[in-house]
Amino acid sequence: MDCIFCKIIAKEIPSEIIYENDKVFAFLDTNPVNPGHTLVIPKTHNENLIDTEDELLCEIILTVKKIAPAIIKAVGAEGYNLGVNSGTVAGQVVFHTHFHIMPRFEGDGHRHWNKKPYKEGEIGEVALKIIAEL
Ligand code: AMP
Ligand code: ZN
Repeated sequence: MDCIFCKIIAKEIPSEIIYENDKVFAFLDTNPVNPGHTLVIPKTHNENLIDTEDELLCEIILTVKKIAPAIIKAVGAEGYNLGVNSGTVAGQVVFHTHFHIMPRFEGDGHRHWNKKPYKEGEIGEVALKIIAEL
């Protein structure tokens, strides 16, 4: 399979490995939002979060919990954003499940939310539509 992240896991492509166990792999993003930007991925290939086994998702989030404090401390950041881009429209470029840990610094200028207020009554309609799909 021609997946760049599978090749990174197999060490056919070099990466700066932060952490690895039998289920997950964490390495530095080469095009970071800020220094220390890390990707946490499952070792089995799935296109995105929805397709990934529950057990693996648990392992990913536990890995985030384990390594995020070390990343933050190492780069002197004050916090981090945890991100998942699902689908091309959302900016997903690599179709192998991955969580971004993005260290944040005061005044770093990184903005990824451009909020748009609801019109009168719209929020309730949206909630009902989502609940109907569950
Ligand atoms: P996404 O846009 O959510 O699919 O994120 C893919 C991420 O993978 C991007 O932030 C890229 O900078 C990163 N990336 C792509 N190729 C490599 C690589 N060889 N080593 C490390 N990070 C990579
Ligand atoms: Zn893959």
